[in-house]
Amino acid sequence: MEYLTSAGSTDFAAAVAQARETPGAGVVLTGSEVGSLRGLSESEPDLVLVVDDGSWRDAIADVDRPLSKVADDGLFGLSLDEYTAALVDAGATAVLSPTRAIRREGWQRTLASLFMELDKATRPELIPHLPLQSSILDEDNLVALRQALDEFGRPVSMTLLGGRDSMVPNGRLASLRHLVADGWVQRLFATEPLIAADTFAHGAASVAVGINSGLRVPSMPGGGGRRSRNFELGVFHRPIMEICTPTVFAEMYASRPDAPSCTECGGRSLTIYRQREYAEFVEHNLHAFTDHHNEVAALDPQLRRGWLAQERASALAGHPLALVRGAGGPNRTLVQLVELDGLTPEFSVSLGAMFTTTGLANRLGVSTSTVTNWTQRSRDPLACSGTGRERRIDWDDYVAFASKHPGLRGVARQAASVADGQRPELASTLQTLERVLQQVESVIEDAKRTGDASKGLRRQIRQVVRSLEGVG
Ligand SMILES: [Zn+2]
Repeated sequence: MEYLTSAGSTDFAAAVAQARETPGAGVVLTGSEVGSLRGLSESEPDLVLVVDDGSWRDAIADVDRPLSKVADDGLFGLSLDEYTAALVDAGATAVLSPTRAIRREGWQRTLASLFMELDKATRPELIPHLPLQSSILDEDNLVALRQALDEFGRPVSMTLLGGRDSMVPNGRLASLRHLVADGWVQRLFATEPLIAADTFAHGAASVAVGINSGLRVPSMPGGGGRRSRNFELGVFHRPIMEICTPTVFAEMYASRPDAPSCTECGGRSLTIYRQREYAEFVEHNLHAFTDHHNEVAALDPQLRRGWLAQERASALAGHPLALVRGAGGPNRTLVQLVELDGLTPEFSVSLGAMFTTTGLANRLGVSTSTVTNWTQRSRDPLACSGTGRERRIDWDDYVAFASKHPGLRGVARQAASVADGQRPELASTLQTLERVLQQVESVIEDAKRTGDASKGLRRQIRQVVRSLEGVG
């Protein structure tokens, strides 16, 4: 069992079709999809089918009731073994314990109670499942968490709850790496491709990437947003490892020649979204997530971490918003992982990012008219080219404007980001490039030994050369 897809009912058939083409792949049946288990196992006997009843999506665990569907005394529900047996009979390859969401408050007691229940089960198909509020992985908790897992004595699977970017603060991604590398966490469910790839490279047996955001960056019960009528699916653009809606990609690449498209999807543009093409964008994500996993899986396990580190650094260096820090910049999970790898993003000498008025306003969290007003100030206006809807603003010009007007609303809010976003000093850039070159050399050494990783290597070298040109 290696690569799984978590899909809701809208995307489930497409996920099955994609998994069918990938040896060792499978799908996670969550919530109402569990009802189709028997039929699916009969029509797709080769597919890995993991059942996750999805209790964590709407119920909070407590000491008295860490699990759904099962009861201690067997009177009002099934025992865990009975629950598992029924699903295995219907064709499940493996079954996640129906654990409710575990919140941070009192997590140690809740976990102890869950482990007591899990200890009563004997079926090998039952996977102990810990849907945890992400903040439980704060580095301050790591010792206690390890101790709890150590006492339980069996590897677990996790789903991390808290929504987009919730794994970024307080060393949570580093904690996850430790728990995976030490063998405590063997499987990660309902996650995003970046965290899935990192977890897999650190030794996880399987990962499940979600197609929709509710199963990719899941929230705690009650914390999820509803889809708006103008809902746009986030799409994965592998070169910069970013998932954005096509509208956001369009703003991001407004003045660049390399607007995202996918050759695999016949050259489809990833900057124009039409509602009726929803299914095609789902197919793009399905193949793009799977392809990224396969890139990692194809490597010798010893090379995976180093290779991914290089790929992420390249992605960040080529990111249109490489010089923007914080909420308006690149995917914070990507930035955090690059920092964890010891590769600071400062070497990212990117082509300057250009914004439309609305695009810059969105990035800064101000209204479009505020940005328009800035361009029309009598003293030190925000420089721009074009007029009206054609107006374009260079990020560097915004940085210059912000430094002249530090007190303006909107500018002040972004002040920290702006300070970080200025072009780094040449010396520190060269220092970082030096470090990147050393890493490239070590990848070359590895590649010589194994004859592998040549594609990633070529991309990395191209990236370093581009960065050098930027410095020159
Ligand atoms: Zn595609």
